[in-house]
Amino acid sequence: MSDGVDMRGRYDLELVGLTKKYGDTLAVDNINHLFQGGSYVCLLGPSGCGKSSTLRMIAGHEKVTEGAIVLAGSDVSHLIPAKRGTAMMFQNYALFPHLNVRDNVAFSLRMKGEDKATRDARANELLELVDMTGFADRLPAQLSGGQQQRVRLARALITQPKVLLLDEPLSALDPFLRIRMRAELKKLQRELGITFVHVTHGQDEALALGDELVVMNNAMIEQAGSAREVWTAPKTEFVARFMGGHNVIALDGGKVALRADDVKLSDQGLPARVTTIEYQGGHAWIGVDPGRGTHGAQKSSSG
Ligand code: ADP
Ligand code: MG
Repeated sequence: MSDGVDMRGRYDLELVGLTKKYGDTLAVDNINHLFQGGSYVCLLGPSGCGKSSTLRMIAGHEKVTEGAIVLAGSDVSHLIPAKRGTAMMFQNYALFPHLNVRDNVAFSLRMKGEDKATRDARANELLELVDMTGFADRLPAQLSGGQQQRVRLARALITQPKVLLLDEPLSALDPFLRIRMRAELKKLQRELGITFVHVTHGQDEALALGDELVVMNNAMIEQAGSAREVWTAPKTEFVARFMGGHNVIALDGGKVALRADDVKLSDQGLPARVTTIEYQGGHAWIGVDPGRGTHGAQKSSSG
């Protein structure tokens, strides 16, 4: 602790004018962003906005059309994936079906020519980290979806990346498991202290996990900031609508975003007609129409 070197700061990841074109399709349009070393960042946006293309360029699985990817001060844009200091956890990439869990996890070490004893020892450490020690000798087909995800995570982390890239890692899981796995991801990121860049189209997931949220739309970054900032102060109409729970209303002075949980139903204020009531268990969604389009209000249903 005495030399004052900030380990986390050394692993900042910066995107500089990053652009991706597939023929005529502009998938990523000149984006700039600094991912703080050691943070959990959620890259969020609707389907087709360029999230996966961005992630794949960072990982080196997709060529950069223009711009640069700078990790820990070096331009890694033209390095092969294994040389970048990043690792990607793929959601749909099958584990090798004929290899047991330990050998799946150790695969990249085998490619590097490490001997079997070293590979096994490292793989066992990683399996312990993801709580899968008891499954090392099983084949992937003998695991549940959540367990397979843990193996993928261990397989990505065995390369000791500075940045772990996760493309919709939870979307194939059922809702219960998704919430459990996301807590585990967050805990793991805190323990390892490395940067996680997690792509999701789920607002809840991003709010729950992200130290920082980077909201993309139409190949560009609309807003980046802490979860609280993005939620409480959306910069654009798109962000307000996309984050959910906001009403965007045109008033005489311009458009304003009004949080549904801040709207009160009473006999004062704007006159409006209740159009829908949706029971949601702990609360209810009440749609009201003040004559300018339908708006949502969230109401506690305890009474
Ligand atoms: P997201 O992950 O946010 O859903 P993508 O990065 O996958 O978005 O895609 C961004 C845009 O690039 C989309 O219009 C998509 O159709 C297009 N695209 C993605 N991959 C390819 C590809 N390999 N070839 C051509 N177009 C692609
Ligand atoms: Mg995608």
